[in-house]
Amino acid sequence: MFAANREEPQLVVAQARALAKQVPILYAILSIDAVAVSYTHYRVAPDWLTIYPLSILLVACAVRMLIWIRRSREPADAETCARRLRSTTRIAPVLGVAFALWAIFLSRHGDATTQMHAAYFLNITMVACVFCLLHLRSAAVLLGLIAIPITIYFGLSENHIVQATAINFATVFGVLMFMQSTFYRDFRSLVRLSGENARLANIDALTGLPNRRSFFSELKIQSDEAVASGSAFTVGMIDLDGFKPVNDTYGHGAGDEVLREVARRLELAMREVGWIARIGGDEFGLIIKGEANVAAVGRAICVALQQPYLLREGTAQIGASLGFASYTDRSDTAEILVERADYALYFAKANHRGTAVAFTEEHASRLRSESKIEQALRDAEFGTEFGLVYQPIIDARAGRVVAFEALARWNSMRLGPVSPAEFIPVAERAGLIHCLTRALLDKALGTARNWPTEIQIAFNLSAYDIDTPEKVSMISDLIVKSGVSPERIIFEVTETALMRDFADAGRALTALKDLGVSIALDDFGTGFSSLSYVHRLPLDKLKVDRSFTADLCEDAACRNIVQSIIGLCRNLNLTCVVEGVETSEQMLLLGALGCTNMQGYLFHKPMAEAEIAAFLAAQNGCAGDGPTVSTAA
Ligand code: C2E
Ligand code: CA
Ligand code: CA
Repeated sequence: MFAANREEPQLVVAQARALAKQVPILYAILSIDAVAVSYTHYRVAPDWLTIYPLSILLVACAVRMLIWIRRSREPADAETCARRLRSTTRIAPVLGVAFALWAIFLSRHGDATTQMHAAYFLNITMVACVFCLLHLRSAAVLLGLIAIPITIYFGLSENHIVQATAINFATVFGVLMFMQSTFYRDFRSLVRLSGENARLANIDALTGLPNRRSFFSELKIQSDEAVASGSAFTVGMIDLDGFKPVNDTYGHGAGDEVLREVARRLELAMREVGWIARIGGDEFGLIIKGEANVAAVGRAICVALQQPYLLREGTAQIGASLGFASYTDRSDTAEILVERADYALYFAKANHRGTAVAFTEEHASRLRSESKIEQALRDAEFGTEFGLVYQPIIDARAGRVVAFEALARWNSMRLGPVSPAEFIPVAERAGLIHCLTRALLDKALGTARNWPTEIQIAFNLSAYDIDTPEKVSMISDLIVKSGVSPERIIFEVTETALMRDFADAGRALTALKDLGVSIALDDFGTGFSSLSYVHRLPLDKLKVDRSFTADLCEDAACRNIVQSIIGLCRNLNLTCVVEGVETSEQMLLLGALGCTNMQGYLFHKPMAEAEIAAFLAAQNGCAGDGPTVSTAA
C-alpha cells in the first residue's frame, strides 16, 4: 500500500496528475494556517517557537509548491510519476510530525483561547491535508496514523473544551479515513475503466491489431522521435489484392477469417522489425523501426500473404501490394510519409501488383507533377476547359466508319494542354473522375446525336465510373436524357479497371448492358488478361492494345499473339478491334489475319467535332454509297 503501484502505470500517472493540482493547494493552506497560528502566538510564545519555525516552514512550503507547479506543466512517464509519489509519501509524514510537534509546543503557551487555536490549527490543517492527498492512499493513511497520538495528547488535556475538540477531531478523522478509502477505490476503478476504454478505442475488434487511430498516433511518436534523435523508420501501406471476391464468393464470415489470418501472418512477418495496424477494410499500415532491410521485409510479407487460406468453405487465394516510404530528413512529416507510402502502393497496384514498391526520387518527381495537375484539376472549369476529340473506328473490309471513339482533351487555364494519359489517372486518384465523366459523356452523346444513326459512339469509362450502382444509374440517366439509342453506344473499359473488383465490375457491366449498350475491353493484352475473365464478362468487343500493332510486321511473336486474339474473338463471338494502325502494311497484314475493325493514325487522328461532317462527307464521296473510308495517313 505504501509503495507506488508498479503494475498499474496508468493509475500512477493519474495519481501524479491529480496530486500536481492538489499538492500546491496543500502547501498554500499550510502556509496560511502557519502564519495565522504564529500571529496569535507572537510574543505569547518565544520567538524560537513562532518566527523561526514559521520562516523555515514558509521557505520549505514555497520550494515544494514551486516544484509541484513546475511538475504539473511537464509530461511525465509512469516511472517518473512513481518516483514523485514515493517522495510525497516520504515527505507527508515528516511534515505532519513537524507541524504536530510545533502545534503541541505552541499549545503550551498563552491562555485557553490561544491553546484552543493551536489545537484547532492542527486539526483543521490535518483534515485539509488529507483532503489534498485523497488520491495517494499511502500518504493519507500515514497522516491518519499521526492523528492518533495527537488525539490522545489533546484528549488528555485538563481543559474540557480541548478534550471535546479532541473527540471531534477523532470522529472527523475516522470518517475522513473511511471516505478516503472509498474514494481511492472508486478512483482506481475509474482509472482502470478509462484505461480499458482507451485500449478498446485503439484496437481493431476483428483482428486484435492496433487500429487506424493507434497507427497514426504511433506514427506521430515515431516521427517526433526521428526529428529529435535522427532515428530512421519506414512507413508501409498494404492493400490486399482479390480480397473482395473472397467475401463475395464465400461470404463475410470467410472474409473475416481471412482478415484474421492476414493479421496473424503480418504479425509473424513483422516480429522484431516493427509494428503493424489495420487501418481500413483490407488495408494495413506498418512502421519499421531502424535501418531494417525494407525490401526483404516487403518480399517476406508478399510471400506470406500469397499462401493459400484454408477456410471452412474452401481454399482462398489472395495477394497483397505494398508501398513503402522511409524517413530521410526533418522535413518528412508523418503526413508526407503516409502520402509517399500511399503513392508507392498505388504505383505497385497499377504496375507491379502483388509486390512491394519503395518510394523513389522518380516517384517524388511524378508526385510533384501530379500534385500540380491535381490542383489545376480541382480548380478547373469542367464545362469550358475540357473537350472531346473523335477518332474513327473503321471496318477496313467494308471500307466504312463504324464508330468514333471520344477522347478527352484538357486545355488547362493554368497548365496549358495536358494529355489524358496524365490527367485521367490523377482525376481517378483525386476522386474527380466521376464529375469529369459526367460532363464528357453528356458532351459526347450530344455530339453523337447529330451523326448518321448507323455510326456508333465509343466512350471510355474508368473503373471509378462504375464502382457503385448510383454511378451506373447516373450514366443510364444521361443516356436516356440524350435521346441517343443505347444500341449506338459502346463503353470501353480496361482490364485493370475490371480487376479492381471483378464481381462488382461484372455486375456494373451487366447493368449497363441491360440498357442495350455494347461493352468493349480496352487495351487488351497489357493487363492481367485471363481468358476466364473474358468469357465470364458480358463483353461485345476486344480492343487489341496498340503496343502489339507497332511491332506487328517485324515481330513474329507479336503477329502470333494478335492472330490468337483474333481467333479467340471469333470463337467467343466478340468483335475484334485492333488499335494503333499506322501503316498500310499493318492494315494489310491485319486484314490477312482476319481482322476487320481497325483504328489508328492511318485512317485518321482524333479530330474535332466540327471536322466530322466533312470527314464523313469525304468518305461518302469516295464510295458514293454509305460512309466509306480512305486512309488519311
Ligand atoms: P485509349 O482508350 O487506348 O485511346 C487510344 C489512344 O491512342 C488515344 O490517345 C489515341 O489518340 C491514341 N492513338 C490512336 N491511334 C493511334 C495510332 O495509330 N498511334 C498512336 N501512337 N496512338 C494512337 P489519347 O487520346 O492520348 O488517350 C490516352 C488514353 O487516355 C486513352 O487510351 C484512354 O485510356 C484515356 N482516355 C482518353 N479519354 C478518356 C475519357 O474520356 N475517359 C477516360 N476514362 N479515359 C480516357
Ligand atoms: Ca479506349
Ligand atoms: Ca486502348
